[in-house]
Amino acid sequence: MPICPDCKYEYVNGITVCPDCGEDLVDELPPEIILNEADWIVVYTTAFDYEAEMLKGNLESAGISVMILSQKDSSFPAPGDLSIIKLLVKKEDADSAVNFLNEFKKSLESENSEDESE
Ligand SMILES: [Zn+2]
Repeated sequence: MPICPDCKYEYVNGITVCPDCGEDLVDELPPEIILNEADWIVVYTTAFDYEAEMLKGNLESAGISVMILSQKDSSFPAPGDLSIIKLLVKKEDADSAVNFLNEFKKSLESENSEDESE
């Protein structure tokens, strides 16, 4: 299905140029624009909104695009009362995201163990 990368309209097969803006239509929008789950990978799950938001902010400041997927917004009912929040990154960022999360967890642990910081 051709899509205009500019207007985000989908067109029927056979149309190659957007009639609105003259942009060449593409088969798929890049993952920044539209969620294509096959290109994203879950690197972290948590039950806490604040934790997901905090990690998202940290990863984004490291230049990694993050998407938060929460079962609360999903059409799939959660199996149980615990709603799991998933942190997704693009597959090419997965390794650096996992490294970053490990480093981040380590720094949290060392902060907690070093109480006498004065
Ligand atoms: Zn267009």
